[in-house]
Amino acid sequence: MKRIAVFCGSSKGFSDDYSQQAIKVGEYFSRNRIGMVYGGGKIGIMGVIADTMIKNKGEVIGVIPGLLKHEEVAHKNITQMIVTKKMSKRKVKISKLVDGYIALPGGFGTLDEIFEALTLGQLQIEKKAIGILNTNDFFHHTLKQLDHMVKEGFLKQEGRDMIMVSDSIEILIEKMIAYKAPATSKVVNTVARK
Ligand code: AMP
Repeated sequence: MKRIAVFCGSSKGFSDDYSQQAIKVGEYFSRNRIGMVYGGGKIGIMGVIADTMIKNKGEVIGVIPGLLKHEEVAHKNITQMIVTKKMSKRKVKISKLVDGYIALPGGFGTLDEIFEALTLGQLQIEKKAIGILNTNDFFHHTLKQLDHMVKEGFLKQEGRDMIMVSDSIEILIEKMIAYKAPATSKVVNTVARK
């Protein structure tokens, strides 16, 4: 994997474990020459990974909507900053740059971004690997909710199986490299091409 989109909190959370894990991710990416594409912020877990990667000479590309760039949250020392007009354009730009997506603990923004990636995968518009780094079992309830959706008939098991989970970045990346997207169905093909 050459580049991965990382979605994670603009906050650091209450436990230092989240920042420690973010540092490990930044070190792992730099060591393995995996570029990070992210929201471009200098705050929260986002800022922790970006700072770690800059320190270790990794490639960090921020994709930020103009609106956020003018606030004091944009990182100033990363490899490249791409400014988009809108939040929605930002997501499209990110998806063009990466081979896969990872979510670390975060809030609404993080869930929004990773679920959009899952939706694109479910519709087979994209076939990229999607992983969740489950530090301190942070995503326990989210994953339980997804199991509930399968049980109640609102999510296919195939869709649920698209998500790779680990609390270790090494294992998560191994799973993502081995990932094979489900075969494209005819109906989805027709929809996606329109
Ligand atoms: P949240 O999980 O709600 O803290 O939002 C974090 C996610 O949303 C990140 O992955 C970013 O891509 C995006 N985001 C939210 N706030 C900012 C910000 N101030 N600067 C850049 N990106 C942000």
